[in-house]
Amino acid sequence: MKLNELTIHELRKLLDNREITPSEILNDVYNRVDAVEYRVKAYISITKEGAAKMADDAAAMIAGGRPNLLTGIPIAVKDNMCTEGIRTTCGSKMLADFIPPYESTATSKMLKQGYVLTGKLNMDEFAMGSSTENSGFHTTKNPWSTECVPGGSSGGSAAAVAADECIAALGSDTGGSIRQPASLCGVVGMKPTYGLVSRYGLVAFASSLDQIGPLTKDVTDSAILLNAIAGHDTLDSTSAPVTVPDFAESLGKDIKGLKIGIPGEYFIDGMDKEVEASVKDAIRKLESLGAIPVEVSLPHTGYAVATYYLLATSEASSNLARYDGVRYGFRAQGKDLIDMYMNTRAQGFGPEVKRRIMLGTYALSAGYYDAYYKKAQQVRTLIKQDFDRAFESVDLIVTPTAPTPAFKVGEKSKDPLQMYLSDIFTISVNLAGVPAISLPCGFSSSGLPIGLQIIGRHFDESSIFRAAYAFEQSTEWHKRRPAL
Ligand code: GLN
Repeated sequence: MKLNELTIHELRKLLDNREITPSEILNDVYNRVDAVEYRVKAYISITKEGAAKMADDAAAMIAGGRPNLLTGIPIAVKDNMCTEGIRTTCGSKMLADFIPPYESTATSKMLKQGYVLTGKLNMDEFAMGSSTENSGFHTTKNPWSTECVPGGSSGGSAAAVAADECIAALGSDTGGSIRQPASLCGVVGMKPTYGLVSRYGLVAFASSLDQIGPLTKDVTDSAILLNAIAGHDTLDSTSAPVTVPDFAESLGKDIKGLKIGIPGEYFIDGMDKEVEASVKDAIRKLESLGAIPVEVSLPHTGYAVATYYLLATSEASSNLARYDGVRYGFRAQGKDLIDMYMNTRAQGFGPEVKRRIMLGTYALSAGYYDAYYKKAQQVRTLIKQDFDRAFESVDLIVTPTAPTPAFKVGEKSKDPLQMYLSDIFTISVNLAGVPAISLPCGFSSSGLPIGLQIIGRHFDESSIFRAAYAFEQSTEWHKRRPAL
């Protein structure tokens, strides 16, 4: 067994028993990258030199008898989290040469634990997309079938983990960008409660929705990595002042009597038969483990996609106003200041980002604000209340993560609305601010992974991990690897 195929918790034991060294793990990871990356294209930047140094530092921490859970573990990071001195592009030409002068809180917490950064991962430009086809650099391929997309926008993160090109990865999720690619690539992806993980140093897309979270090979690693990055941070005013529990304590607890809500709105006529069958099997499996399925209703589900595309684009149009070629990032020439602004933005942003800036600017403009932005905020409240009401009678809610398995490269890239619908099952969770995980629950007849979404109450990641772990331990789906 190659070390890059193992999980964080498996490697931890071997490292702490001094059976292996951080450089040996890193070696196996980069051998794999050298062998398959030309087909997967998960990375934007591969940081071999820095990683070798970090592996040595980790070895010293272990030798000093002070290892943490992530010491010496090779982890890759979505390229929208600032890494001091290391290029952070956000998948955009606009930031193609941007070297951040500071470190994001999530990655600085991992640094303190002695992790090893293997590189920065591909993504849709400014995290806008569901396939990585909107990346300003290249499209990442799904390790299960390189004709297919890995999902997005954290497609590089999901593909790198699935292809064993790193041990685990960080992604970000605004409307599904951790869970949908996790589902399409057969890995575990966790979107924490809004406010659990600091957004400091995360390049902003839609600030009221964005959250950082882990993409891992199993549920145990998800709990370990979330514990490493979660916690209150005074540098992010939306960070919640909560005490973070040890999520590992939820693993292995039985799920007898746990009430799991099944929302009728998520199981509709015309849905993909194989997704429906796998998710219904998963619900039966949870029931056989002692959980009690309860029908619930989330009546405003049908408005979620429209609401999201008004709010997310409005916030994006404001957040992206800063890219004017003056302080940082790409700068085009112009005959005067206004001309320079216009050329910079015309040349620096790709088509999807421009589409969203225009949509959002329109929704916020005088005369339209009440009809669009304000109305969308009101519907957002209704969607959140749907979840509050459902969680009065159940502990968790279970749904498919994505409406279909991975689609082909090019299949939806010409039709933005079709692409937007890939997130139909994940978007409400961000609007409500609640946490949710996606984990493997089956495969399509063509061998593509299918994901199960488990949604919890605000700050109740523990119950999600408890149910996800019980499900994972009684199935074999997470053990399958793509034959790249
Ligand atoms: N696919 C959705 C979008 O394009 C969600 C993206 C995300 O979560 N970052 O906006």
